[in-house]
Amino acid sequence: MRPVAVLGATGSIGRQTLEVIAEMEAEVAAIAARRGSRELWDLATAHPQARIGVAAPTPTERDQFGGLGSRVVFGDEAVASLAGEPGIIVVNAVVGVAGLKASLVAAEAGNRLALANKESMVAGGPVVGAALAAGGGELIPVDSEHSALFQLLAERKPGEVRRLVLTASGGPFRGMTADQVADVTPEQALRHPTWQMGPRITIDSATLMNKALEVIEAHHLFGFPYDAIEVVVHPQSLVHGVVELSDGALLAHFCDPDMRIPIRYALTHPERGTRRAPHFPLAATSLTFEPPDLETFPALRLGYEAGRAGGSAPAVLNAADEIAVQAFLTGRIGFASIAVVVERTLNDVPVGPVESVGQVLEADLEARLVATGHLGNSC
Ligand code: NAD
Ligand code: MG
Repeated sequence: MRPVAVLGATGSIGRQTLEVIAEMEAEVAAIAARRGSRELWDLATAHPQARIGVAAPTPTERDQFGGLGSRVVFGDEAVASLAGEPGIIVVNAVVGVAGLKASLVAAEAGNRLALANKESMVAGGPVVGAALAAGGGELIPVDSEHSALFQLLAERKPGEVRRLVLTASGGPFRGMTADQVADVTPEQALRHPTWQMGPRITIDSATLMNKALEVIEAHHLFGFPYDAIEVVVHPQSLVHGVVELSDGALLAHFCDPDMRIPIRYALTHPERGTRRAPHFPLAATSLTFEPPDLETFPALRLGYEAGRAGGSAPAVLNAADEIAVQAFLTGRIGFASIAVVVERTLNDVPVGPVESVGQVLEADLEARLVATGHLGNSC
């Protein structure tokens, strides 16, 4: 297997990627994170051949990591450039729109982009698509639902597929009313029933904004209209995606809620790797499905609206949510205010085109300023 660059190596997906790489005895080409933490230092020591990227080091971290010599780079641009080394697989496990540049660099260099960073596709889907076409790179999704759909859609002919279904666990507040979720705390929202993930995506799973972002991600990855992309709540998180075919057959992809499965597939595609685990306990498994509650979780509706508006609207949706989630985690706004801040920001920022990375980042910045302005009056 080709050497692998792991961007966002100290996060939930990054760590699991390093576990899979170790199991497969593959080579690590590069490792990057936002801060020069103790964990990144230990990874740099454990992988002496790997290039190391620190996106936003403190002066002390810069001194310490600088001691490792020319294999270390600092700053966002330099970290993104690690994705351009020829002949590698890039696992983009950065959180937030900060991951967009690395996706573009990997795509333009003709590398395989194993994409966990859904924000790249949400904010800059058309730009990433153009970079893949220009550079000859290939994108294999890591997000579990998109990995499922990618595998289900392989070898399907155009016209054979009627609709795509993404499943959602429903998060920790499934079954609650809008009044009941209004006062939930960050601690409660961070307790996800089925997945262990970083804080932003965990809160996004509790509001259903994660599914909103995933609907837009699916639209860009697979080219289906929004009317043909449905979300169903499936609390067991075992079925990750369903494809409904023209003849009425439904193909479902299911497996344990273990992100190492889609990570491994993104590395081995089109081959299948090996997972050392007992057989799936099929006879002891029940699967249930229910519709999402858009009244308690308006973020999903906002996702469809932003997706259908197109242009910069999804970038605005994502940026406003990044600001609102941070404000919720630090106690500045309540849970229900997350969607309020996002909706007000979408209303205030006009939709523009996203034909260049500059336009994406401009929309992102404007949305951050507008969303920050709404924090004070949303609670
Ligand atoms: P996390 O918060 O656990 O980790 C984020 C990582 O990104 C950290 O290593 C951090 O240092 C790094 N990072 C942040 N800003 C950076 C920058 N500017 N440059 C370089 N590195 C930077 O997040 P996570 O849960 O691992 O999620 C990562 C991405 O994968 C997100 O886009 C998320 O939506 C997606 N994803 C995660 C899961 C999951 O199970 N955790 C599942 C599907 C998709
Ligand atoms: Mg997902």
